[in-house]
Amino acid sequence: MTHEERQSLSQQIHELIQSTQSEISKLEEVTQPVKPENSLGRVSRMDAINNKSVMEASLRSKREKLSKLELALKKIDQADFGNCTRCASQIQPARLMLLPESDLCIRCAAR
Ligand SMILES: [Zn+2]
Repeated sequence: MTHEERQSLSQQIHELIQSTQSEISKLEEVTQPVKPENSLGRVSRMDAINNKSVMEASLRSKREKLSKLELALKKIDQADFGNCTRCASQIQPARLMLLPESDLCIRCAAR
């Protein structure tokens, strides 16, 4: 990976971290406990609870993504950054731009 590729990747990761953080804080707002005393009817309350578990699942995966992105940012200056953790070959820069949190090359990820 060239110096320029590393720099633009680092920029990309910063942007992804910011957008993921703002998605997380939005999800945290909507996953507040459903108040039993709210004026929704029973059916809408069931809907609210179903929606909430979908939102919570998505919140969990966003948090996971955020921690992977932060890890990628920490590792970006290391010599072995961008190497597949399974086969140790270089992960394609295009793949890293799209999914900077990936630690497997496209071949290993497809397995
Ligand atoms: Zn691999």
